Amino acid sequence: MDNSTSLKDRYQSIKSEIAELALKFGRTADSVKLMLVSKTVPVERILKTVELGHKLYGENKVQELSDKVPRLAEENIEFHFIGHLQSNKVKRCLELATMIHSVDRISLAQELSGQLVKMNKEMDILIQVNTSHEESKFGVHPDEVINLVEAVAKLPHLRIKGLMTLAKFSSLEDEVRPCFKMLKQLSNQIESKNIPNVEMKELSMGMSSDYRIAIEEGATIVRVGTAIFGKRDTPDSYYWPEDK
Ligand SMILES: *Cc1c(COP(=O)(O)O)cnc(C)c1O
Repeated sequence: MDNSTSLKDRYQSIKSEIAELALKFGRTADSVKLMLVSKTVPVERILKTVELGHKLYGENKVQELSDKVPRLAEENIEFHFIGHLQSNKVKRCLELATMIHSVDRISLAQELSGQLVKMNKEMDILIQVNTSHEESKFGVHPDEVINLVEAVAKLPHLRIKGLMTLAKFSSLEDEVRPCFKMLKQLSNQIESKNIPNVEMKELSMGMSSDYRIAIEEGATIVRVGTAIFGKRDTPDSYYWPEDK
């Protein structure tokens, strides 16, 4: 990370770049939302971006959400959950997050729904798709997405708002872009089925290394961490553990 640029500079330049790209690809400037992925980032540093007017954050560990949300309770910001969700953490996650991007199996959806009924609360969710065919990635197999969406749509208190994916980890555009194209295609396919209780308005895709391509392919939420907060001390494998 270039130390000569400040957090504020990086934030503002990426914000305006996102709006420019959206316009360039024939969409409105505000059609792509920037999520700041704040995993491992201390609350004091998150507050620096809150001061710039930022409202949407993403975390992928329930424990970290649990530590941070109460400390930021006065700030009028929201956290989406973007990580692998274990069933014993479902209740806590539902208390803290305003959207869950990582629903990838019916058992998890059932747990969420059951808990929401008890809490008398509704939750917006995205279905996570494994578009890269990498074993280490969570997400439902592309061939199974429609079945999963149809099954989840029947569960009470859950509202499907779109799809999410992590593209292949590659510096080659030719390997990354097809993942985003596939997610968009699946979204169109699902939309055309007019399934009750299902909206396909969000496509959560693109991270620090590939958000530009994701916007070109139709992203509505890009999830950016490193490019704004700087490099994390912990390797990404920590966040994508093998213990499916
Ligand atoms: C960490 C993470 C990101 C952001 O990654 P960067 O490369 O730091 O931008 C996006 N999405 C998910 C699911 C993540 O875990």
